[in-house]
Amino acid sequence: MKFAEQKDQEESLNLFTSTQIVIKEALTKLGYHEEMYELLKEPLRLMTVRMPIRMDDGSITVFTGYRAQHNDAVGPTKGGIRFHPEVDEEEVKALSMWMSLKCGIVDLPYGGGKGGIICDPRKMSLAELERLSRGYVRAISQIVGPTKDIPAPDVYTNSQIMAWMMDEYSRLREYDSPGFITGKPLVLGGSHGREKATALGVTICIEEAAKKKGIELTGARVVVQGFGNAGSFLAKMMHDAGAKVIGISDAHGALYDKNGLDIDYLLDRRDSFGTVTTLFESTITNKELLELDCDILVPAAISNQITATNAHHIKASIIVEAANGPTTLEATKILTERGILLVPDVLASSGGVTVSYFEWVQNNQGYYWSEEEVLTKLKKVLVKSFDQVYEVAATRGVNMRLAAYMVGVRKMAEASRFRGWV
Ligand code: NAD
Repeated sequence: MKFAEQKDQEESLNLFTSTQIVIKEALTKLGYHEEMYELLKEPLRLMTVRMPIRMDDGSITVFTGYRAQHNDAVGPTKGGIRFHPEVDEEEVKALSMWMSLKCGIVDLPYGGGKGGIICDPRKMSLAELERLSRGYVRAISQIVGPTKDIPAPDVYTNSQIMAWMMDEYSRLREYDSPGFITGKPLVLGGSHGREKATALGVTICIEEAAKKKGIELTGARVVVQGFGNAGSFLAKMMHDAGAKVIGISDAHGALYDKNGLDIDYLLDRRDSFGTVTTLFESTITNKELLELDCDILVPAAISNQITATNAHHIKASIIVEAANGPTTLEATKILTERGILLVPDVLASSGGVTVSYFEWVQNNQGYYWSEEEVLTKLKKVLVKSFDQVYEVAATRGVNMRLAAYMVGVRKMAEASRFRGWV
């Protein structure tokens, strides 16, 4: 095994450790002392809960769940709840730290939080999922609330689960609390635009990056890895903007057409898990997809896809990370040295939390905005954030990932300092 491969595998083993490495680098660049890193290197709180839930066959299963709150110096913490068999403590902690960074980058009055339950929702009935969702809210009720910690959907959780959770919290508190959670159905105080917010945020970052690189979006060749919530909406937005989406993929393979794929047809045929390539005979691999000759590459599937092993073979001029952690730190260095503009996940995928914030604001004021208002506000926030990160990268001579971490970490470091914590 080559050294670079070995290093990449080590990095991929621990997203938590690589997040700590960049936070430390960002704090050092900003001139903070070691104490600040000691404060921010881990969440302030991590609650582990065990929940006995009655299953449909009458048996009891005891589920384990977590809620991590990274730093609440800026304001209440905010972040999704993941239902997945591979949820673990380290992942929840790392994801809460990413949420702090995202909130700092787009300048929201929040710190980062994250929750997760070890379970496989694909094997559970709706009634079991409802009992688990309500049980989780009862278990963590002491540390969450509209001014403490505001959850949201994440992997395998959706607006129905948010609705059950909001109802359970409102019952516990004995008053209606729509601001307890975001990502709710519209009739329960959800926000217009939430569903496509992440993809729109990525699109705005692509537009800004293309301007910097002098690439015209009309006719630009775009490759998107992943055809789920984020990837499929994004492919559609790129297609509608006049770009040529020449490659898409899912967990089973990838599709390529140098003249542009029929995105509307693919959207129509994909299933609810984001699978579509199984319908076609002529496919390429995900590895080949990432190395296609294109202008813009958007990893929108899973982590650790661009590593020291393939970073030298990437042909795109711009990479915009819709997925969390698709590029390792070693690969980030290689891509930057090669002059590829890489827009990091903590900036590019912050559209979702931004519209979640808008939902919470609307809940608190009891006055609701049109989709147009939401999307206009989102665009303003993301363009400003992109410009800020780009300028820090240019003036401090650092890559876009480190620049984004510097912007993201500064607000919570300053808030912690003013509060007298460090
Ligand atoms: P999803 O589950 O809806 O879709 C995932 C897609 O990736 C599917 O098409 C699936 O087939 C594909 N995939 C799975 N394993 C793969 C593999 N090994 N190789 C290639 N493709 C594979 O998920 P999503 O909500 O679209 O999220 C995708 C990424 O974006 C995740 O990293 C997620 O954390 C991140 N993200 C999503 C949102 C959001 O609002 N949806 C917000 C922020 C970040």
